[in-house]
Amino acid sequence: MKHLSTRGLAPHLSFDDIVLSGLAPDGGLYVPEVWPQLSPKQFNDFADQRYGQVAEAVLSALGGSETALDLNGAIAGAYAQFRHPEVAPLRPLAPNLWMLELFHGPTFAFKDFALQLLGPLMAQRLERESRRLTVLAATSGDTGSAAIAALAGRPNLDIVVLHPKGRVSEIQRRQMTTVMAPNVHNIALEGDFDTAQALVKALFADRNLSAQMQLSAVNSINWARLAAQTVYFITACAALRGRGPVTFVVPTGNFGDIFSGYAAKKMGAPIARLIAATNSNDIVARALTTGRYERRTVTPTHSPSMDIQVASNFERLLFDASGRNPTQTMALMEEFAQTGAFTVPSPVLTEMQATFGAFAADETQTFAAIRRVHESTGMVVDPHTATGVAAAFAQDLTERGPVVCLATAHPAKFEAAIHASLGFAPDIPAELSALKTLPERCVDLPADINALKDYLLTVVQQRGAL
Ligand SMILES: *Cc1c(COP(=O)(O)O)cnc(C)c1O
Repeated sequence: MKHLSTRGLAPHLSFDDIVLSGLAPDGGLYVPEVWPQLSPKQFNDFADQRYGQVAEAVLSALGGSETALDLNGAIAGAYAQFRHPEVAPLRPLAPNLWMLELFHGPTFAFKDFALQLLGPLMAQRLERESRRLTVLAATSGDTGSAAIAALAGRPNLDIVVLHPKGRVSEIQRRQMTTVMAPNVHNIALEGDFDTAQALVKALFADRNLSAQMQLSAVNSINWARLAAQTVYFITACAALRGRGPVTFVVPTGNFGDIFSGYAAKKMGAPIARLIAATNSNDIVARALTTGRYERRTVTPTHSPSMDIQVASNFERLLFDASGRNPTQTMALMEEFAQTGAFTVPSPVLTEMQATFGAFAADETQTFAAIRRVHESTGMVVDPHTATGVAAAFAQDLTERGPVVCLATAHPAKFEAAIHASLGFAPDIPAELSALKTLPERCVDLPADINALKDYLLTVVQQRGAL
């Protein structure tokens, strides 16, 4: 299995190369050259298997069967860290409505599913080749802590994380800045997440810099992350077998997680529809509804990990839904880079709408969903999850079949939002409350590419890697 770029002009890469690569050299994103098909027998077997076994089968199909890395060892190690024996348990919320709890990993958000796996694979790959690299990540809140948890203290790599200053929750920030491993470097960047993401992309595109220092990505532009996330869509379908095709509601920012759901469907999982739930930063909801993909300014909300107005992974859908037309994809993405908008061609939009629906929940609707779940079940859901629950309620999705809302983070990460909607603070697990008294380490930088380059070069020099 090779992987090709959505823009068609980059070398094809193996699974092992994908582990270390971010943006393709032509500016595109990697996807598998074909969607592997899982057999009906495999789907049947998944119902009785443990999470790790399903992950082995799914990731083998997605190119992992050709890896020289110890994929199965990495899978076993990654999911053994989770606090729940089922790893991704389903919990009933209402008739025909379930929550898929994806927050039982070390940093209490779904990003751990991919990064706990990617961390050891990256380290293995580097050790084997006696290489060293610098992982660069922009985070809207949860990727940064998950990447740091997965990579802190590992040899042969440094991790530099940019978060938008003042725009992540206190616990999210502390999960990153209290890690004292010498290979971890935090930057609080002036600006919003889109600014941080654009700067990271610009650093990758800077050939002089890439020549000087080996840069690698762990943002969801890295395909291996999305591959790892296909697994829980499949385990959820397996757990609900016999009830008909499943509709998933996915709290969406960068369009990575929901694209993993799309990949699972393409591999044969019985998925009816995928509903993208956004907060008021609704570029994805607008694009899927009207066909106009148009950037606007980011509004800070209580679901900061979704405060994004440039959804990088939408490019992957644009490519696949156009019958995999790299020329058209490249032209539209260039139009977006120049003008901040493009219109999805109508046959492509029709194709997208056959699978995807969308809903944008404002803060009032999000808080109302947190209250409604609490009143009816006693459970506290986090504000990201609540955008999805709001979508499921608003669109009466459960009338057509089983619906699964992805619970993407633990409510304790978002105390202020829970307090604002329920009037009391959520229970804080000991692992998180312990962070409140630890010292923090972080530098403030302006949103300026030269300042960032200087910082990176200095850090890497000090670490003896240049
Ligand atoms: C990252 C994140 C999202 C959005 O996921 P994307 O893959 O960027 O669409 C939603 N909820 C939480 C809690 C997150 O951390």
